[in-house]
Amino acid sequence: MFKKSLLILFCLIIALSAPAAAFAEQGASAEIPVSNAEDLSKLREDPNGSFVLTDDIDMSGIDWVPLAFSGTLNGNGHAVYNLTVNTMGEAHADTLDGNAKVYDSVFAGFFSVLDGGSVRDLTLRGVDISVESELHCFAGTLAGYMKNAVIENCTIMDARVSITPLCKPDDTKRKSCNSGVGGIAGFGSGSIRNCTVNTVLIFDDRCDSSLKVEEFLGGVLSCGNADIVNCTVDINGFAACRGYAHNGGLVGMFYQFDKADPLGEIKNCTVSGSVTFFEDNRDRRAYCQPYVGELLTWPRITGCSNSFKNNETRDYTMTPSPEKCQTPSYTETETAADCSHPGYTTHKCSVCGNTWNDSFVLPEHVPGEWTVVSAPEGGKDGLKRQTCSRCGKVLGEEVLAAVQAVSILPESLDLKYKDEAEIKAAVSPEDAVYDALVWSSSDESVAVFENGRIRAVGRGTAVITCATQDGFAKGSCTVNVGYSFGQWVIKILLFGWIWY
Ligand SMILES: [Zn+2]
Ligand SMILES: [Zn+2]
Repeated sequence: MFKKSLLILFCLIIALSAPAAAFAEQGASAEIPVSNAEDLSKLREDPNGSFVLTDDIDMSGIDWVPLAFSGTLNGNGHAVYNLTVNTMGEAHADTLDGNAKVYDSVFAGFFSVLDGGSVRDLTLRGVDISVESELHCFAGTLAGYMKNAVIENCTIMDARVSITPLCKPDDTKRKSCNSGVGGIAGFGSGSIRNCTVNTVLIFDDRCDSSLKVEEFLGGVLSCGNADIVNCTVDINGFAACRGYAHNGGLVGMFYQFDKADPLGEIKNCTVSGSVTFFEDNRDRRAYCQPYVGELLTWPRITGCSNSFKNNETRDYTMTPSPEKCQTPSYTETETAADCSHPGYTTHKCSVCGNTWNDSFVLPEHVPGEWTVVSAPEGGKDGLKRQTCSRCGKVLGEEVLAAVQAVSILPESLDLKYKDEAEIKAAVSPEDAVYDALVWSSSDESVAVFENGRIRAVGRGTAVITCATQDGFAKGSCTVNVGYSFGQWVIKILLFGWIWY
């Protein structure tokens, strides 16, 4: 409760302050910056907002709960590493099977439901989604469900999405369950362009044996209709299905479930990999195709190529998993991060060769010493710079302000012979960078500068000057030295009136 009210307070502060500041800075189309895993909660509080990543984000150690979103997320070329999802999002939406039967369903992915929103220029690297549900359910790396959403220029790498439907008979006397897993999205419609997907997809039908599951598995989308254009997919799919299997390198079942949505087209895509599956069902469908498993409505498919393998098996005891071993033996190899590539741990089974990468470490520069590029001189500002000691990238620059003026306080002094007085110099601007100032006296038989003080050494007038080493800026103080009454008396006694 306390946490929740803190959160509400936090959101109020954000709501009151951030938009105004952002507006002033970037104009009306301002995007809310997101720079770390904690910031990602801003999407949850403002699901219609416009967000931009300003840095790569490490989500390791976070059990991400999929969120419903209708705003825009601009990855800005950045990557989100180590996304882990173990629970379905709260949002429900209707999905349909090939007979237009409606199923109240739940969803998992970075987003549970992406309704009308958009995601662009984002990389997800190291995705581990593993969910199960007794409800009809769909999962995808970016979204479990998309409705007229736009996903562009996104890259999904080193991903594994696993869904286990556990449907049980309910009051509706329905004999089927609707469930699917996709490389980008589970169920839905919209536009997916210029995306690259490299993923393991797992569908493990654990529904009650009285139910037949409508199983959908697709390298981009498990079921639905969308523009799928210029996408490159490497799929490693595994499905155990005791109902109706729909597996496709791009889409499990292409189906215009809502006639109000555009039908979509499939163009210029490349598919590699395979789907290993069984369909333990005498009323067989067993769809498994390089692009679309079952074409229920007909998109145009043009300019695509593939090296896709349909690995259907009749071994109904097969566990849907890339792990083939009874006695796996894994060794771990670490690859260090450098300036432009993440580090990661590679797990490889020496028995079956199954390999995957996880535990990504963000790319990082190695900040070197700051060095002076040009020293401030003659009133002209200088510059210092910090570069990466590994790749030489400039990480930071700072202006070294030159001294424009020197002033001395006090500006004049009346001293008695042998007296001392404190004197100070100030430079402007205050943050100017300079070496020690040079003090001098126009007449060292009258006044000298020593350790921050003026010492009167003889009667008369001297000008004390304080200057920068290059002499560009200087200040002065006029020192008049006279005798005190006592000093006069001593002088007169020693030298008589005549001497002076
Ligand atoms: Zn193995
Ligand atoms: Zn570097």
